[in-house]
Amino acid sequence: MRVRNVKNADTYILDYPTIVITNYLDYKGKWHTYFKNNNPIYVEIGMGKGKFLIENAKRNKDINYIGIEKEISIVYKALNKVLEEEKLDNLIILHADAEGILDIFEENEIDKVYLNFSDPWPKNRHEKRRLTGPIIFSNILKILKGDLEFKTDNRKLFEYSLIQFNNLKLNIEELSLDLHKDKEDVITTEYEDKFTSLGQVIYYIKLKEDK
Ligand code: SAH
Repeated sequence: MRVRNVKNADTYILDYPTIVITNYLDYKGKWHTYFKNNNPIYVEIGMGKGKFLIENAKRNKDINYIGIEKEISIVYKALNKVLEEEKLDNLIILHADAEGILDIFEENEIDKVYLNFSDPWPKNRHEKRRLTGPIIFSNILKILKGDLEFKTDNRKLFEYSLIQFNNLKLNIEELSLDLHKDKEDVITTEYEDKFTSLGQVIYYIKLKEDK
């Protein structure tokens, strides 16, 4: 049964414990045990309604995908989108805030992180909330052992983030100031489709840490 009322979303998700994992704190350092395989683990922080991760999970069955989303009403939408698909054993959703990411994952537990169309938080006093800001981003780097891909339509956020990445001496593996012009077969997100249809370019960077 679908609940129309998003107010009930936090009880609705409890009916799907293999898709929305509520006891995720129990799995810190044990996510491979959870998935019952040793496949790489890729995480999208701020997954939104899930289009990007669902498409990735369908194409790459040998990768485990975890979507993190802090808004319950959006988790609810992502869950319903997953339910429209054939069962996907390699995709789960966590209703969580990236601010607590060190409680969810062990250091170096994650093979890739995606930040897609992260909230820009344009005011200086909100810098600490930016996913590419010094606080949250340094924690993301701790849990990450592979590469990180970031895409956005927001030029100011992109410029700000490039400075952060440079300060952290991260290696740039790929960079595009017009992703859709430069690359074919891009798996897009909901926001990406929206901004592209409005004629906006998408900025993209792929980074690797020296570890
Ligand atoms: N990646 C999706 C959604 C982008 S909008 C897309 O490209 O279509 C940004 C999303 O990140 C929102 O759904 C917002 O709720 C979520 N978000 C923002 N800050 C977050 C945080 N600290 N932790 C988890 N999710 C966050």
